[in-house]
Amino acid sequence: KVRVRFAPSPTGPLHMGGVRTALFNYLFAKKQGGDFLLRIEDTDQNRFVPGASEYIMESLRWCGLIPDEGPGIGGNYGPYRQSERKALYKQYADQLVESGWAYIAFDTPEEIEQLRKEAEANKETFSYGIGTRERLNNSLNLSAEEVQRKIDAGEQHVVRFKMPADLDVTEHDIIRGEVTFNTTKSLDDKVLFKSDGMPTYHLANVVDDHLMEITHVIRGEEWLSSMPLHVLLYRALGWEETRPEFAHLPLILKPHGKGKLSKRDGDKMGFPVFPLEWTDPVSGEAFHGYREDGYFPEAFINLLALLGWNPGTEQEFFSLKELTEVFSLERVVKSGSRFDPEKAKWFNRHYFQQKNAEELAELFKPVLQEKGISATNEKIVEVVGEIKERCEFASDLWEQGSFFFVAPESYDEKTVKKRWKENTPEQLSAVVSLFEKIEQWDAESMKETFSAFMNEKGWGFGAIMNPLRLCLVGGNMGPDLFKICEILGKAETIQRIKTAIE
Ligand code: GLU
Repeated sequence: KVRVRFAPSPTGPLHMGGVRTALFNYLFAKKQGGDFLLRIEDTDQNRFVPGASEYIMESLRWCGLIPDEGPGIGGNYGPYRQSERKALYKQYADQLVESGWAYIAFDTPEEIEQLRKEAEANKETFSYGIGTRERLNNSLNLSAEEVQRKIDAGEQHVVRFKMPADLDVTEHDIIRGEVTFNTTKSLDDKVLFKSDGMPTYHLANVVDDHLMEITHVIRGEEWLSSMPLHVLLYRALGWEETRPEFAHLPLILKPHGKGKLSKRDGDKMGFPVFPLEWTDPVSGEAFHGYREDGYFPEAFINLLALLGWNPGTEQEFFSLKELTEVFSLERVVKSGSRFDPEKAKWFNRHYFQQKNAEELAELFKPVLQEKGISATNEKIVEVVGEIKERCEFASDLWEQGSFFFVAPESYDEKTVKKRWKENTPEQLSAVVSLFEKIEQWDAESMKETFSAFMNEKGWGFGAIMNPLRLCLVGGNMGPDLFKICEILGKAETIQRIKTAIE
């Protein structure tokens, strides 16, 4: 059975790249009737950010990417927070030391920093590994008794992986094909277990993927360089047979220029990069979120799906359900894909238009309430039905429809200049007299009565309609004028005209 996991570290809010990783994992699993797990990788206590974990779970919920197993959800492979699995990792670190794949190192951070500086002075880069490990303070260079004595004396120590020399590790990546790394050229002896009793990402990640029976590791490209170490760890732990396959997803690039989309790009360029808004608990810095900016999760998911994946057809709109039917890793591209904020709005417009007036009215109500406006459900639904076509976000509803609820306080100057003639007040007061006589106050019948009236007077249609709109709306925008009259009601319509001409 296919089992995949989304394994974020709670070091901050989830970036849209992270949500896309979760989405692709989810789609891959669901397409094949598999399981989608959430695992919180919180072994780095120094980088832990309060609230990040909750933020991640809330984001997934908002997107509809509900894990089958995870913290707060349960499952047979828990716990799903690495900090709660702490007791589990040490035995594997010990096993690796015993089998000679790892060793114990006593060097203090200061000693290592010293070596780094010396190397720098010689225009070299220091790395702890092949060629340097022989000269350092570790169990490879000490007698077993000496090592034991140091441990018993409480000396701080870590466990490091002993990277084999000059080995070509060739691995198949589902998206990238064959990838080869040479151990001597590119890999140092990574710390697997820290002096604080916690595993590092590398050890915990591999151990958990094994114990949780993960079949496919689908993650961001930034982890590609860790793949050979992980492959070797599976080998060292004797788990090669059941090891997961790997797929590294391409980067999401900035809308313009070069490089990866970063958390600051969004607010700088006027779009969110986070699913939900986020305030950094330390710096107080605040970031926008798609949810609060009025995007629908359907739109957010749809746009993310097409960042790096394409269906091979012209189709652009996909529901989450549809995506689970057509998604495949084979159609994920190798190169980075550029994020287009305009396209994001365009997607939202589509999903906005898909909703009916009743649904949209529910989104409009809190806005009206905040403005202290009370109106019947019937009126709100009716207004929304008239203006929705002009909107792409719920926030546009107020912009497009405020005049249905509050009389204009001022009149658009440009329109006044162009449309308001000397005889306009006189003509409009004739309209008021006409309106006062109308009994059937609906757009259709008004239209007829009005046409007859205009014919009789011989006035130009525009000469009356434009000023009339100005009286009712305050400008020259809005839907059908008679529809506006109908919704405003007879008394309000007449009142607004009177106010304008007096
Ligand atoms: N904890 C890692 C992260 O934050 C997970 C990488 C992986 O999926 O292996 O991205």
